[in-house]
Amino acid sequence: MLLESITMTDFQKGLKKTKTLIIPFGTVEEHGSHLPLSTDTMQVYEVVKEAAKRIKVFVAPPLHYGVLTSTRNHAGSIGISANSLRMITRDIIKSAYVKGLRNFILISGHAGNIHMSALKEIGEEMIDEFDDIKIAVISEYDMIRKESDKFVETKDDGHAGEIETSRILHLAPHLVKGRAKEEYPKLPKPFLVRDKVKYWKGGIWGNPAKATHEKGKKLFLFSVDRVVEIIKRIEKIR
Ligand SMILES: [Zn+2]
Repeated sequence: MLLESITMTDFQKGLKKTKTLIIPFGTVEEHGSHLPLSTDTMQVYEVVKEAAKRIKVFVAPPLHYGVLTSTRNHAGSIGISANSLRMITRDIIKSAYVKGLRNFILISGHAGNIHMSALKEIGEEMIDEFDDIKIAVISEYDMIRKESDKFVETKDDGHAGEIETSRILHLAPHLVKGRAKEEYPKLPKPFLVRDKVKYWKGGIWGNPAKATHEKGKKLFLFSVDRVVEIIKRIEKIR
């Protein structure tokens, strides 16, 4: 049940079947010169929509903005602060709680540390505040990582590389503009640098040339299965 397309009445009826809400989180973020800025949003929202065809669950419209760190200086990247993410996530959960929802799955297509921490912080805050809710916080990218290691050829593939290019080739091939070159960031850790583009020109972490539609499809289906499992588990655990 996608909140974007159901009615008030559908919502009331749906509540008798499930009290679980999935909230997908994405970004407007550079994904190299070949993938759309909404790559993270698209990956996670398509997975969640497919899962919702297989099991009764409410799905919130995705939040299209996230907290960006190493990609935030690149062209097209439009991020929000961790504080904004915390505030909006808290507001959405509280409002959905008042409407009768009790299980919340926060799943993010963007795996940045600060971004994920902000979501976890609010999850922790909410379970302290309401004693009858359950919350799961998931980085979708980390969830599929072990599975992807089985067939993804690029050893250190992270951002807009083999994995993400494969996934968009599967979900929206018309949005893939050729293939950017293999690249890895050269950020001089542990230092935080002001001009991140200087150390990471193309904004790619991995090798897009190894991407295929089939790999993308495998990862998509694996991810859908995991999400369905998590929905079943959150409804059972105490
Ligand atoms: Zn991404």
